[in-house]
Amino acid sequence: MRINLGRVVNDIEQLARFNETPGNGVTRLSFTKEDKEAREYIKKEMKKIGLEIYEDGYSNLFGRREGKNSNALVIMFGSHYDSVINGGKLDGVLGVVAAIEIMRVLDENNIENFYPIEMVAMNDEEGVRFGTGVSNSRSMAGLIKEEELDRAKDKKGVSLREAMIEFGLTPNLEDAKRDENSIKAFIELHIEQGPVLQNNNKDIGLVETIVGLDRYDIKFKGKAGHAGTTPMDNRKDALVAASKFIISIEKIAKNIGEGTVATVGELKLSPNASNVIPGFVEISVDIRSTKEQNINSVYNSFKNEIEKIKKELDVDIEVIKTLYTPPVDLSEENIKLMENISEKLGYKYLKMNSGAGHDAMNMAHITPTSLIFVPSENGLSHHPDEFTKPKDFEKGIELMLNTIVELAMRYDNE
Ligand SMILES: [Zn+2]
Repeated sequence: MRINLGRVVNDIEQLARFNETPGNGVTRLSFTKEDKEAREYIKKEMKKIGLEIYEDGYSNLFGRREGKNSNALVIMFGSHYDSVINGGKLDGVLGVVAAIEIMRVLDENNIENFYPIEMVAMNDEEGVRFGTGVSNSRSMAGLIKEEELDRAKDKKGVSLREAMIEFGLTPNLEDAKRDENSIKAFIELHIEQGPVLQNNNKDIGLVETIVGLDRYDIKFKGKAGHAGTTPMDNRKDALVAASKFIISIEKIAKNIGEGTVATVGELKLSPNASNVIPGFVEISVDIRSTKEQNINSVYNSFKNEIEKIKKELDVDIEVIKTLYTPPVDLSEENIKLMENISEKLGYKYLKMNSGAGHDAMNMAHITPTSLIFVPSENGLSHHPDEFTKPKDFEKGIELMLNTIVELAMRYDNE
């Protein structure tokens, strides 16, 4: 039983055609014309396989292969098919086309699965249009609230709810929510989006933990003034304050170690003129770690640092928390299973962490979850040149196929 790599490559190329920015990477935002076209393609392929197709109250698109016991827990796998602006062909899509291909192979080989098997295609993982993010998996895990559908708006002021209705859906969060004891396992295949597998010459990454993410906006309020006439000891320079903070947070993260990272990636400066002392600076802070205590340590240290800077420079500093997701551990049992299968197949694997968020982290709230990485050429992603060699992603799909067969056939403990 083997997958057909040619069909997978074709699916990837076909889906890349549903694109708002041809010639400049792939742009396929949620609940748009391109989303609908991609969705129709996925439905058409699922129909050919004879899967039972259904959609829930949050646009999650499923293809179900019935099990010998139709009431047994579901084995689910899939990923997202929305993209960033000018992104690549593989981010998310690889996991969706892998799911389609696995369903084809199960059908061609008349696999008699005890457990029902469902593939899922999700359309709002990147969250670019509405500033949402991993919202499909949040809907399945019951981690999204009604008010978000109205609050989240695109650049034209269209709310998420309005866009869903325009798309032909009747939003129903209760319907999308999955019962905590209804899914036996969730598996997502994804490109690594980093250089670790390639640098270590590995075929497969088995993710143990998805890092937690803590995000802040920090506003430094000083006093704008003439750059020539305001003496150095009479200034409230917001940029000097922000700079001291940026230097300190780098040290804080390095001191805590254990892979803890902290990044200031955005900076707004006002008035932003060469002859004016900066009166106002706003920065973003992004902190990630596999351990909650390390995230808390960064926060506590930077709060102390802010108090020091306030006193030293007599500026006002406001800290606003914008996002928090805790670190998520994935299924150890299924990692062991995948290690065994990788060894049988002769694949070189690496147990690793994911520094990026994925739908898998939400699914882990309701079911034992796995995330399989395949190498990203030069670690590049969210870029038109994002690339993985077909013979590299073939291994990830083969591993997922064999894992699903193994999980679907085991009925001794049920
Ligand atoms: Zn992705």
